Amino acid sequence: ENVMQGNFIHSIIEKDNEENTYGKKVYTRFPPEPNGYLHMGHAKSICLNFMTAQKYGGKCNLRFDDTNPVKEDVEYVESIKEDVKWLGFDWDELCFASDYFDKMYELAVLLIKKDKAFVCELSVDEMREYKGDFNNPGKNSPYRNRPIEESLDLFERMKNGEFKDGELTLRAKIDMSSPNIYMRDPVIYRIAHSSHHRTGDKWCIYPMYDYAHPLEDAIEGITHSLCTLEFEEHRPFYDWVVKETEFAMPPKQIEFARLELTNMIMSKRYLKRLVDERKVDGWDDPRMSTISGLRRRGYTPESIRNFAESIGISKSNSVVDIAMLEHAVREDLKLKATRKMAVLNPLKLVITNYPEDKIEYLDAENNSENEELGSRKVPFSREIYIEADDFMENPPKKYYRFFVGNEVRLRNAYFVKCTDVIKDENGKVIEIHGTYDEETKSGTGFTGRKVKGTIHWVSAKENVKATVRLYDYLFKLNEETGQYEYNEDSITVLKDCIMEKSFETAQKGERFQFNRHGYFSVDVKDTKEDELVFNQIVGLKDNFNK
Ligand code: ATP
Ligand code: MG
Ligand code: MG
Repeated sequence: ENVMQGNFIHSIIEKDNEENTYGKKVYTRFPPEPNGYLHMGHAKSICLNFMTAQKYGGKCNLRFDDTNPVKEDVEYVESIKEDVKWLGFDWDELCFASDYFDKMYELAVLLIKKDKAFVCELSVDEMREYKGDFNNPGKNSPYRNRPIEESLDLFERMKNGEFKDGELTLRAKIDMSSPNIYMRDPVIYRIAHSSHHRTGDKWCIYPMYDYAHPLEDAIEGITHSLCTLEFEEHRPFYDWVVKETEFAMPPKQIEFARLELTNMIMSKRYLKRLVDERKVDGWDDPRMSTISGLRRRGYTPESIRNFAESIGISKSNSVVDIAMLEHAVREDLKLKATRKMAVLNPLKLVITNYPEDKIEYLDAENNSENEELGSRKVPFSREIYIEADDFMENPPKKYYRFFVGNEVRLRNAYFVKCTDVIKDENGKVIEIHGTYDEETKSGTGFTGRKVKGTIHWVSAKENVKATVRLYDYLFKLNEETGQYEYNEDSITVLKDCIMEKSFETAQKGERFQFNRHGYFSVDVKDTKEDELVFNQIVGLKDNFNK
């Protein structure tokens, strides 16, 4: 198998195994902050972490990075667990960073005792001033050299709630003139009098991300901590933390490029805004870049995993064409999905030489590329529905479907010749008439003559009605500005579509190919006992060139 074959992360792991750095163990983690639903970018990280552990017979944790009390929520915790499971992964341990608050506090005390941290009284603005910038070194805080005993006392009193938010901070003592800004005595604890969704009011001081994250990894015994490229400059501080807190087997941070896709916006903050402003129907709106949205739309977990593997892992940022993701789901469904007939924009065709009361049940293959899916019967009758655009009054050249005088093959049925067109008083075509030739019945091996067009149809007598939702991208590139813009026309709802009778038994979440239209799934939320609702997953046309 070529699971994430030969990427640079695997080379690092293999070298560590050779040199016995971690006792030949591989332990990774997926560490989401529970402040939103997961999106496709997270899916890449999930696949990378879990598949890497699998590849080396290692372990992978699901860890909620819940050190920031204000934005987090249990709703998100549950949705994240569901998404990871749905993608097909099973974590070794389910962890919450907040479970380590005691340990993190203890280690901060250790740092103070080692004179590696101090309590600072500078305000946020002053601190910014002291920090310097890329071109200028920073200045030492006037509190930097306060006695260890004093910092220990103040830190304890911070914990006990004696100070207001922002009054004091605990800072690492490293080097204010370091060329790396993240090494300039970064804040490691701040005061925040806010309730935490798991620890309640136990704490009023919270560790900063850059201090907490390496400790979470080290406490869990993570060996390779995979994160996105923007953390590259934070790595020296990551290493500093695990070294100064004296972990025997310091984990190794390795950065990779974030996934970006054309036509998809992947930022929890932005997605949350779409939800809050009701521009979409919740986090799982089928147009969303969230895993729950893609699941509801009908994407398969296999297709997302395959996609994640096929894009590989890299050290430089690039934008992946969404056509590649669409290609992955099309490929996955090609042989799995039953192919059926669905008429989305119905026009009635009356076959005038077919007996009025007769119904025939014709054989139809379920998937012409996969015999194993078997066949079914489809009812055929004198009145059927075809797609409105499979008839034209004044056809252009090379139009092989219906126009008066032209003969067309009805898929799984007969050749029918169009004889007449019926219009209403406004000149709108409301019905067409034709005659069939019994000898041309599908499956009989008729070779008498050929027709160029084959179309799908559904009996007007026996069928099922459905609502079908067609989708366009939620974001489209404005060629002039080069910016993605919210697409007001990203959904088209077709009511009263006429579906083959066999759709009667369609189950929520089930996926189909509609002949000539593409792949669709039965919406799990809006489908009711007496109303079928389909979401378009992807069209048939592949825009992806390998
Ligand atoms: P967002 O910016 O959308 O809020 P985040 O990085 O803040 O994402 P986290 O919950 O912190 O979200 O992410 C959990 C893990 O998923 C992290 O290890 C992060 O690096 C990874 N991740 C997030 N977005 C992407 C992406 N676009 N591509 C690859 N990995 C990602
Ligand atoms: Mg984050
Ligand atoms: Mg974020």
